[in-house]
Amino acid sequence: MNKNDLSAFQLKSNLRKALKENQFVLYYQPKINTETGTIIGVEALIRWIHPEKGMINPATFISLAEESDFILLLGEWILNKACNQIKEWEKLNIKIPIAINVSIKQLLKQDFATLVSKKLKEFKISSEYLEIEITESVLSSNESLVRDAVSKLRNMGIKVSIDDFGTGYASFMYLKQFQADTIKIDQSFISHLPTSQVDTAIVSAIITLASELGINVIAEGVETQEQFNFLKDKGCSQLQGYLYSKPLPPNEILLLLRETEGRFL
Ligand code: C2E
Ligand code: MG
Ligand code: MG
Ligand code: MG
Repeated sequence: MNKNDLSAFQLKSNLRKALKENQFVLYYQPKINTETGTIIGVEALIRWIHPEKGMINPATFISLAEESDFILLLGEWILNKACNQIKEWEKLNIKIPIAINVSIKQLLKQDFATLVSKKLKEFKISSEYLEIEITESVLSSNESLVRDAVSKLRNMGIKVSIDDFGTGYASFMYLKQFQADTIKIDQSFISHLPTSQVDTAIVSAIITLASELGINVIAEGVETQEQFNFLKDKGCSQLQGYLYSKPLPPNEILLLLRETEGRFL
């Protein structure tokens, strides 16, 4: 075992303990309407606050969690946490949807749609307040199961996005496989806007594609005013990124939602 494998191994064997000891936290990043500048929702992004190593980002541990069925346990915890947050905000009259990230593995192995349906009833939450972002790095082997899972969710009134669109194996396949509400353009196509000729072409094409399909489009990882201007000019209706806000812990996102009263620009 090399050094990297060892630390991955150590992290992996610590995941269950971390869940028991409540070391995971959901951070929230706002989604902005490009035209009106209002916050139209937030995305929940998990963090692991490790007692010795400090904050560990999901890139380090989500793939480890997905190698075993631990992702199912963690996924259920995330769903619960998001539902709790929706209820807490509802009490404060903050009515805004929370999007959670779900991998195809969770979607299929767990009968995720049924789990979501149970949670909405348990927490007495209207389905408009919970959204799903589907992420995947490997091509799903079972098209019809994916289609069924997504249509079950959408029939319940849950909005579904294709995350990291343009990367991985499956993005265009997903457009054929199931009906999505939103395409999220991956950050890697945004970061070199507007100078990269290839990226401006790709992003313009994705925006046109979404428009022709009658679905929403959101740009991820918008960091500069130049990127914002380009996207707005091309008609990209929503965006997310450090230009507006990093993902924030619950107390800070609450302050932001209150201060801005939903308005950002
Ligand atoms: P994602 O869903 O595509 O999330 C976007 C990532 O980009 C987040 O990284 C976010 O913090 C980061 N980001 C947002 N705006 C900017 C920006 O302007 N500049 C830069 N450089 N980065 C920005 P994060 O939180 O580290 O999450 C990475 C990935 O881990 C997520 O990608 C998602 O695929 C996965 N993930 C996060 N939370 C969960 C979760 O609760 N469940 C599952 N299954 N996966 C999760
Ligand atoms: Mg996401
Ligand atoms: Mg993404
Ligand atoms: Mg990503």
